[in-house]
Amino acid sequence: MALLTVRNLHARVAGKDILKGIDLEVAPGEVHAIMGPNGSGKSTLASVLAGRDGYEVTQGEVLFDGKPLLELSPEARAAAGVFLAFQYPVEIPGVGNIHFLRTALNAQRRAKGLEELDAMDFLQLAKEKSKLVQLDAAFMNRSVNEGFSGGEKKRNEIFQMAVLEPRLAILDETDSGLDIDALRTVAGGVNALRSPERGMVLITHYQRLLDYIVPDKVHVIAAGRIVRSGGRELALELEEKGYGWLGLDGGKAK
Ligand code: ADP
Ligand code: MG
Ligand code: MG
Repeated sequence: MALLTVRNLHARVAGKDILKGIDLEVAPGEVHAIMGPNGSGKSTLASVLAGRDGYEVTQGEVLFDGKPLLELSPEARAAAGVFLAFQYPVEIPGVGNIHFLRTALNAQRRAKGLEELDAMDFLQLAKEKSKLVQLDAAFMNRSVNEGFSGGEKKRNEIFQMAVLEPRLAILDETDSGLDIDALRTVAGGVNALRSPERGMVLITHYQRLLDYIVPDKVHVIAAGRIVRSGGRELALELEEKGYGWLGLDGGKAK
């Protein structure tokens, strides 16, 4: 069974129809890359899956593990094993990164009927996982995202994913300020977290990232629809020929 099924998804933001019939199926173990011109609806898709306020679904459905996802609160989605990296990009002064993450992990453990981790056990786990992205201990004690550089935010995102071990991870790589070292670290973390049970949706307009994370499938969104799907070679073709080759210009399908 597919891990994530998106069927004919239509969504509206600020009174404007943005998603106009998205169909997507992600099986366990697969990494899907979603690409497309600026303003085509990539982040809107991620926001709808996250359950962000202000995004109105007008048609279609989303199933996670065969169950309706859209009726769940953002918190319930997270507890069920859906990880949306940018769910936490907001700066939360005064709340330590580590405290924040423990709360999220324990919510997930409660949902699974597991015992919560105490501070000591959690710290142990966090230290182990932090090695994956070369985050140092001082970093963990800083407030959530407060004063983090672009690269640190990305590392933290992967660190959160490593701790929460989601079944489905949706990463919206909107940050263009990722230097090559951070890019490699993020890609290394993502690759280390690939597993036969886990699906990942990686939203990016940088083909470069896909030199490090080789996707199973690539989709191009334009004007709120998936206009092309293929394997890794599709990303390479886009790199070479640009979106113009698909008859797309500025996010508008011709
Ligand atoms: P992408 O991530 O592909 O660059 P987005 O999903 O961010 O595109 O945006 C798609 C369209 O929706 C754009 O025209 C954008 O201006 C509009 N949009 C997205 N979010 C909002 C919002 N909160 N309010 C108004 N318009 C929005
Ligand atoms: Mg954009
Ligand atoms: Mg975007």
